[in-house]
Amino acid sequence: MYFKRLAYSLMGMPLLFALTAAPPVSAQTLSPSGAGTWLQAPLGESDIHSDGSQYEDASYTEALHYAVDLKIDPVTKVLSGKAKITVRTLLPATNLKFQFKKQFEVSSALVDGKSVRSIEHSESNDLVLHLSGQVEAGSSFEVEITYSGPMVIDMDTDTESGWLKNEAGELLTAFDSDTLIFPSTLNASGRATSLITLTTPAGWKGVSVGKLQEETTLPDGSNQLTWNATKELSPRSNFVAVGKFDIERSVLPDGMEMVNAFGEGTLPSARKAVEKISETRDFLEDLFGSYPYDWIGGVFMEFGDGPAVEKAGRSLFLSLKDTFTPSVMAHEMAHTYWGDLVTGIGENGFCMSECLASYAQWRWDDRNGEASASDTYRKWVASADADPEKWNGLGGWNAYSKGPAAFYALSQFMGRDKLDEALRNFIRENRHNTTAPTPWSVLEAAIQAATEKDLSEFFQEWFHSGTRPRSEFVDFPAV
Ligand SMILES: [Zn+2]
Repeated sequence: MYFKRLAYSLMGMPLLFALTAAPPVSAQTLSPSGAGTWLQAPLGESDIHSDGSQYEDASYTEALHYAVDLKIDPVTKVLSGKAKITVRTLLPATNLKFQFKKQFEVSSALVDGKSVRSIEHSESNDLVLHLSGQVEAGSSFEVEITYSGPMVIDMDTDTESGWLKNEAGELLTAFDSDTLIFPSTLNASGRATSLITLTTPAGWKGVSVGKLQEETTLPDGSNQLTWNATKELSPRSNFVAVGKFDIERSVLPDGMEMVNAFGEGTLPSARKAVEKISETRDFLEDLFGSYPYDWIGGVFMEFGDGPAVEKAGRSLFLSLKDTFTPSVMAHEMAHTYWGDLVTGIGENGFCMSECLASYAQWRWDDRNGEASASDTYRKWVASADADPEKWNGLGGWNAYSKGPAAFYALSQFMGRDKLDEALRNFIRENRHNTTAPTPWSVLEAAIQAATEKDLSEFFQEWFHSGTRPRSEFVDFPAV
């Protein structure tokens, strides 16, 4: 994601940190006997309660597919839905646990067509289905959950607990989507395909992630749009936006359909910027390898100072007045690779997304003559020398500034072509890491493999230290 006031404001900071990885939890806590490869997934960040305690039986349930039918009224702010979730369990289970906001009333739950024994929905948003019998380990089955409830508007982004609403009354789940629109399994690292149908009153349209499979107007004037994500996604990459959208469909030179949704008040600059999407995708493919999805486009809504948020091929751009630029778009689209396709965990897990997306943005700006990477780097080093806190770690804002600087320095130290090749190899070998996020050490090993030069001290001083690395790792001639 990307914040408008990144360089000079702390606005949105709690939100940003809320998106960083929680401390990793060892996979050994599971170790079910007879585990196949998919059984050995380490716990993802969502397996940890907000107070830091761990779900006792987290990760035992894995969703393979979400088929979700939602009726949304943006005026009354009531959502009703039916989710058919294809699930398998890692261990024999007599109950199934999902995450789902307590504000929704679950009226029925069926497992393979049979009613469950009881439904427990706690204040901590755990939805537990107690089964009449036991489901076997490794077997897959369908859970059908019917629900409805209020769409709670929450503009306090610290809490990440509700829908965002703009002045035009348009609604959006930018964060925490996996608990606001349908019940999801606890393991955020587990990816699933989805098919989301959104029915909205006349004048409104619903947008989500995936290909726009169908768009119809029902006899009563309401609109029904179906979004098909045929590639596996983290539940967090799902979202729903309901707005007075103008939806533009076009076809890129290679035949891929592009779908962009423009909310009320969208400025011509945003419509102009989408002309760059095809070029940006080609640039990123050269840099990181083939584009991973068969859909592309953006959602453009006016939220004043809102951020841009990556969403697996259809990013959200929530500030259009003076900040939406092709550079920000390049950052978000780079998350297709760094964050969506490959997800980090543990030390520098956040950096694996934000440092690399920001580095890609530097490269895009450099290529287009908007800002020379060499100049940007030297200005950043000067600013960090004046404010040593900027050398201190790669969490929070530093991921967006020290992060790309570290990769720029690495490109100068080992050679840019070699670094590019290493990043492409790493993405290819770790793409769709559906069962486990990738530790930072794997990235370092992939980069080291691309050169004879020993990078261990460079890595230590740039990526694992809070002070300025020695001069030979920092002070490169301007190019
Ligand atoms: Zn980002």
